[in-house]
Amino acid sequence: MRHALLPVLAAVCLFITGAFILNLQLWYSARAESYAGARYAAKNINAILDEAMLATRTAIEVSAKSCNVEGQYQLGTEAALQPHLRTLLIVKQAKVWCSSLPGNGALLTSIPAMTNTPLFLVPSRETLNKKPVLIYQTHHADSQILVTISDQHVRGALDMSSRERTYSLRVGNNEIGMSGDVRPADESLTQTGRVASKKYPFSIMYPQPPLFDIQRIFRHGLAILIFLLLITAVTAYVLDKLMNKSATPQEILRGAIARGEIVPFYQPVVDGRDGSLRGVEVLARWKHPTAGYISPASFIPIAEKSGLIIPLTQSLMKQVADNMNAIMTKLPEGFHVGINFSASHITSPTFVEECLKFRDSFHSGTLHLVVEVTEREPLHVDEALVQRLNILHENGFVIALDDFGTGYSGLSYLHDLHIDYIKIDQSFVARVNADPDSTRILDCVLDLARKLSLSIVAEGVETKEQLDYLNQNNITFLQGYYFYRPVPFTELVKILLSKPRVKVVVE
Ligand code: C2E
Ligand code: CA
Ligand code: CA
Repeated sequence: MRHALLPVLAAVCLFITGAFILNLQLWYSARAESYAGARYAAKNINAILDEAMLATRTAIEVSAKSCNVEGQYQLGTEAALQPHLRTLLIVKQAKVWCSSLPGNGALLTSIPAMTNTPLFLVPSRETLNKKPVLIYQTHHADSQILVTISDQHVRGALDMSSRERTYSLRVGNNEIGMSGDVRPADESLTQTGRVASKKYPFSIMYPQPPLFDIQRIFRHGLAILIFLLLITAVTAYVLDKLMNKSATPQEILRGAIARGEIVPFYQPVVDGRDGSLRGVEVLARWKHPTAGYISPASFIPIAEKSGLIIPLTQSLMKQVADNMNAIMTKLPEGFHVGINFSASHITSPTFVEECLKFRDSFHSGTLHLVVEVTEREPLHVDEALVQRLNILHENGFVIALDDFGTGYSGLSYLHDLHIDYIKIDQSFVARVNADPDSTRILDCVLDLARKLSLSIVAEGVETKEQLDYLNQNNITFLQGYYFYRPVPFTELVKILLSKPRVKVVVE
């Protein structure tokens, strides 16, 4: 059997495993990159707040003096020199006491109440320029010092130039992201990473990458994916080659027998004088699912060498019994059904028992079962073999010696064996043509058969000349393409039905 599924399954498993490992690797990398980005953003915000802290010192100095031109100038300079700061405010008794803006202006619509939180986010609705701000707050004596950092700088600190990762700054219960206003933090999100600053009370929040992400594989692992696909295709190909190479002809044949792919064909044996049917010879065919019908010449030698000939013939016998039982009423009494048996099968201990069982499997006892013993392969004729065939003969089997004249086992055993008839090999019949000399060898073979008092069946009759010659020589049982080719059972049924008056053979 061709193992096609296994290499494909192995390749699919390999590909899935490879893609899974690739996905896992990309997931780890994405997590590590997200975390590194969050740490970097936290570092940026820390640096901005350091500026705010430094500016606060200046504001404290000013708050201890008075908010005159010089004080205002000091605050303005500080706000201008620190690149990320927007305004510096000194609040006393909930009113702007001094500011870095001209005229002690404030960016905020209202002064936030004094709290202990050093950091908080103010939404856009509470600022004059309608932009959210981050505020760094300090208390000193009776002063509340507020340093505002514009959203633009906060967003700049969070920007990692990555489309895949978005960071936001969480302060208290509020958050500000890369776009939009200050919003309440969403606590329900579970897939969120967090990096908290050790120095200031804020955290950088970011979405954790999902464990499985097809897009991520395509975006970052396409080359590896293509490589993986190539590797799996090569693996499937190599596995397919190896597995189907390792299946020996014997294994393939064993599978075919088990699946019932070895089927019987039937070649009619006719009476040459009137063309009436006298019987059939069963010839094995391999009904291959893709290659069609395969000739026995290519698998019988393998079956004989491997011992598979026994299960092969048993399978044929079972099918022949089923076929013949189905048309028993259409068969004339004495109809011959010949089965080819190899020497190794005949010498197996269960041979006689199998043949008797075969006989008993027919619904009617009127058929003549023929055991065709080939002379083509060496048949080691000993007493046991002679005894076996003679038992079958006594039990009503017809014993036929196949391929007569081609064997190299000698003819000595013909005296001991009860041979009912011989089958003249087709190679002798094939030589016969219009030339009178062409019959010389066949003349000798027929002469020998007659001297041994053997009945004769001629095989391989293909032409009118051959038929005429055989008729002249009183060889009446004939087999060959001139009459019928071997046919499947359905065709045999048609042949039988087209010949309503099949001649009854009386032995
Ligand atoms: P075989 O037993 O001598 O069978 C006769 C062979 O001659 C068959 O070949 C048949 O198709 C072929 N034949 C019949 N008439 C003509 C004709 O007019 N011209 C020519 N050129 N050939 C003709 P096939 O079916 O290919 O079988 C070949 C051989 O394989 C058989 O020779 C037999 O030795 C062996 N074989 C076939 N089936 C079985 C089987 O079930 N068991 C065993 N052990 N051997 C088998
Ligand atoms: Ca034969
Ligand atoms: Ca033959």
